[in-house]
Amino acid sequence: MRIDFHTHTTASDGALDPAVLVERAAAEGITMLAITDHDTVAGFLAVATLPVPGLNLVPGVELSCQWGGATIHILGLGIDCDHPVMLEGLEHMAQARQERTAIIARRLASKGFEGALEGALAMAGSSQPGRPHFARWMVEKGHVADFSEAFDRYLGRGKVGDVKACWPELPQVVDWITQSGGVAVVAHPLKYRFTLMKLRRLLAAFKAAGGQGIEVASGRQTADQAAQLQSLAVHYDLEVSVGSDFHQDATYGAPLGLESAPFEHLAVVWERWKTRDVVCR
Ligand code: MN
Ligand code: MN
Ligand code: MN
Repeated sequence: MRIDFHTHTTASDGALDPAVLVERAAAEGITMLAITDHDTVAGFLAVATLPVPGLNLVPGVELSCQWGGATIHILGLGIDCDHPVMLEGLEHMAQARQERTAIIARRLASKGFEGALEGALAMAGSSQPGRPHFARWMVEKGHVADFSEAFDRYLGRGKVGDVKACWPELPQVVDWITQSGGVAVVAHPLKYRFTLMKLRRLLAAFKAAGGQGIEVASGRQTADQAAQLQSLAVHYDLEVSVGSDFHQDATYGAPLGLESAPFEHLAVVWERWKTRDVVCR
């Protein structure tokens, strides 16, 4: 069974329109798919009623939060998108993102890049503005040669545009997800580059906050890394989730869809969505 519980669309920083993503997933034989845009469910809602035979579409979202001085991403899978608690949470995230966008623009202006805010907003269109939109604007204006240079020099970790947004604390985000009927999952646990000790502390805090799942396969990962995450999942009694974190076709990114077989002997988040023909539409 091919599945994917971590994907992005044009509603956040993905390149594919939600309808295109869903059609492609179905064409590639994926039977369960979650659209998990950053801080918005607009991408999912755009295709929620679109009938795609053989594909279970699971509502999802990827929420940023703060823990231990770092920004952590938590996936909310199977949430009720209309739940008042989720709506309030998403509104909170939108405000935090707006403030962050303004700060990034001010910082870029201080480096001589005028008009970054308008530029990024124009790039974002109806989607949530983020660093990739600043990057695309910088490329279009000829400030940098390409997307990677924008991140390497101005927007990536430790650079002028790397603004630690005023994201909510971890327990808050987990609470929004669980209260709105979803399963909270720690996204790409190795991407934070924590020591094993700090990663263990994160998982303990996440579990204590009511979190239920951990992504044991995400993006381009080695078998060793997946094995390490699986043993952490068992140790912290967390259900296993997998996802490509697909944003666009790129050599450095993972393709859409993962094979579920290597994980089926574990407690998996998708067990609850397996038995129904069509979920959450
Ligand atoms: Mn992203
Ligand atoms: Mn993420
Ligand atoms: Mn993601």
